[in-house]
Amino acid sequence: MTEDRPRNFIQQIIDRDNSTGKWGGRVHTRFPPEPNGYLHIGHAASICLNFGLAREFGGKFNLRFDDTNPAKEEAEFVESIERDVKWLGADWEGEFGGGLYFASDYFEQMYAYAVELIKKGKAYVCELTAEQTRECRGTLTEPGKPSPWRERPIEESLDLFARMKAGEFPDGSKTLRAKIDMASPNMNLRDPVMYRVQHATHHRTGDAWSIYPMYDWAHGLEDSIEGITHSICTLEFEDHRPLYDWYLDAINEGRGGTALGGPALRAGCEEEPETHGSESRATVWGPTIHHPQQIEFAKFLLNFVVLSKRNLIRLVQEGHVDGWDDPRMVTISGLRRRGVTPEAIRTLCEEVGVTKFNSVRDMVLLENAIRAHLNKVCPRRMAVLRPIRVVIENYPEGQVEEFEIPNNPEDESAGRRKVSFSRELYIERDDFMEDPPKKFFRLGPGREVRLRGAYWIRCESFSTNEAGEVVEVRCSYDPETRGGSNPPPDGEGKVRKVKGTLHWVSAAHAIKAEVRLFDRLFTTESPGKTTGDFVDDLNPDSVEVLGECKLEAALADRTLDEPEWVDGIRRFQFERLGYFCVDDDSTEAKPIFNRTVTLKDSWAKQAGK
Ligand code: ATP
Ligand code: MG
Repeated sequence: MTEDRPRNFIQQIIDRDNSTGKWGGRVHTRFPPEPNGYLHIGHAASICLNFGLAREFGGKFNLRFDDTNPAKEEAEFVESIERDVKWLGADWEGEFGGGLYFASDYFEQMYAYAVELIKKGKAYVCELTAEQTRECRGTLTEPGKPSPWRERPIEESLDLFARMKAGEFPDGSKTLRAKIDMASPNMNLRDPVMYRVQHATHHRTGDAWSIYPMYDWAHGLEDSIEGITHSICTLEFEDHRPLYDWYLDAINEGRGGTALGGPALRAGCEEEPETHGSESRATVWGPTIHHPQQIEFAKFLLNFVVLSKRNLIRLVQEGHVDGWDDPRMVTISGLRRRGVTPEAIRTLCEEVGVTKFNSVRDMVLLENAIRAHLNKVCPRRMAVLRPIRVVIENYPEGQVEEFEIPNNPEDESAGRRKVSFSRELYIERDDFMEDPPKKFFRLGPGREVRLRGAYWIRCESFSTNEAGEVVEVRCSYDPETRGGSNPPPDGEGKVRKVKGTLHWVSAAHAIKAEVRLFDRLFTTESPGKTTGDFVDDLNPDSVEVLGECKLEAALADRTLDEPEWVDGIRRFQFERLGYFCVDDDSTEAKPIFNRTVTLKDSWAKQAGK
């Protein structure tokens, strides 16, 4: 598959780097989530891309928690992210694994680099409030105003910065800023803040720190320390690249020798700068540090959903969904609980590819990728979601036959399973009509249908309750149609035709289960577009819980003909109904199944596309 595709622009960059020997043939990527929520399908694109490149080029892939913002981060998120990345098949430990890291482990090192920039006259402690800093930044057409603290003596900044670290100052009272260019047309270069005072408890470092690094300052250092070669991020960071480079260049200014990065640097081999201002600057600041290349690509976006963590958190906190792993969520954990396979997500990411232009992808692509994979691997089963009783009047009471039905009509190697047949069965309520139109290819008075893999039956009569609802259908069967085969032609050589084939379960053998059907969480392509609030576009009917479903007995326990699912989630095609999986909360006493996706794109029909 990959071979037929034109090489994407990132592969081309790496090809070029490898041919010029830029990184000595090294390819080292990373996925750097902030642990402030669960991962979503957009993150999957980034994971597949970064891990895919490491694998393709025989390189390494790191999972790094960018945990530099203590207020919003939690250990729960760290755990869920590790689980999701693993589930997707991106492995930071295996052959292409470069390891698992936390940016907070580099706080000490980052602090030392910041001190170095102060000593070099490239950073200063500023005492403007956040609001004043904003006001002084200028606009795209006007230059900013220099901070009154911009020219303060180096010694003073060093002292104040040390005291900021020691926790002497209240939140927001001081910042460390890079001294770059208040008139730069790139606003990111107008003396950006590197550190803020924040007395917050961090999920890993506790109360050890009272200052925390800003994203732009921290990110390049994290990449450098880990020896990342290609630092891939999304398009909105394009304007930050000059700052990414400025920070690393500023540290490297006056340094000399071989670039350090990766394990050597992480192990603390970086020497502390010696005295400032002595004979040769190269020996003063230590060896050059590794300077990775930032590369931007377009976010993976999908219609009919909200993706950013900020919005997903709101859905969870306001109770619009039932937690992060609600099967209607496009979080990785929601998709997994819904029965989506990692293979389907990987295929989708590969098909969508990597581009430089933002575009919103159609949800149908995801649904089709799911169908395509599940169709290949899911065993077929029969399940009746809205049952109606069928009695076969001419079938002997107490008799049970077992039919061997193929697990996958498209794949004989998937084997067959035994399904019990008896006098009383269930069929789908929708498969019977009292007064059917001609084009109704199912059961109706006097009509004949095939029961999948069993017999042909003809409706002889039916009964209704007081409300006029059909409660029972009485049929006869034709013993000559055993296994569902066509009956021999009648005496005049006329071939009998059947209206259609229905799925069914034997009443005495069926298991009772709850089945949850999901629809899209939002009714519009871009939720919130009209009113400004995506909550207004929530689909009020996005979940339907059916509590009286009757399922084929084989669904009760894992049977030998079921595939070995890497994640242990049992998945099936319920004939004619779609793909389903066993829900996390399912028990033997109360089995629960989720519908992953319908067999066909029913949404397109509804929407009149
Ligand atoms: P969100 O916008 O959903 O809150 P984020 O960008 O804040 O996401 P991070 O944890 O900072 O999430 O991102 C981790 C990595 O995932 C980053 O490298 C980021 O660029 C990438 N990423 C996030 N969203 C997408 C997306 N929709 N498509 C591709 N990559 C993404
Ligand atoms: Mg973010």
